[in-house]
Amino acid sequence: SNDYRVVVFGAGGVGKSSLVLRFVKGTFRESYIPTVEDTYRQVISCDKSICTLQITDTTGSHQFPAMQRLSITKGHAFILVYSISSKQSLEELKPIFEQICLIKGDTESIPIMLVGNKNDELNSREVESGDGEATAKRWKCAFMETSAKTNHNVKELFQELLNLEKSR
Ligand code: GDP
Ligand code: MG
Repeated sequence: SNDYRVVVFGAGGVGKSSLVLRFVKGTFRESYIPTVEDTYRQVISCDKSICTLQITDTTGSHQFPAMQRLSITKGHAFILVYSISSKQSLEELKPIFEQICLIKGDTESIPIMLVGNKNDELNSREVESGDGEATAKRWKCAFMETSAKTNHNVKELFQELLNLEKSR
């Protein structure tokens, strides 16, 4: 079928929900409302057909291990989000990436996008673009910086993920 399940992981506060809401609803809010776990459906065109993206916005590091394993098992593609203003948030992605490797096996054949969000916050940058790129290279996945606030690279993020899927 043309159903395509995308799971968004990352530490609390990095902007997972903001990226998803920006993409699905075109909105942005300044306030922080912790997520339980939400799934959104978005119809998007790919090639000459259309497909449905099913996007699961997770709670982040506080997800129960069993729920995390289930999200990974069911997911076709993964978005791993950190904030460019927090080195710690990039470090927190490592165990999630390792868990994806454990469950999926050969991750090179799975669309994974490492995302440095909040790239509008240039004054508080703690993670250089090069550090993000280097991590992505080590993990053999794609890399992008985004801003849910300014809408920088948000559409591109989801489009690129689909392109990765198609080029497998
Ligand atoms: P989540 O816990 O990863 O889902 O993070 P949220 O999406 O709830 O966002 C946490 C906080 O960061 C909120 O106050 C958002 O307004 C803010 N935020 C999210 N994305 C961005 C961004 O790209 N730039 C800036 N400056 N703030 C953002
Ligand atoms: Mg959230």
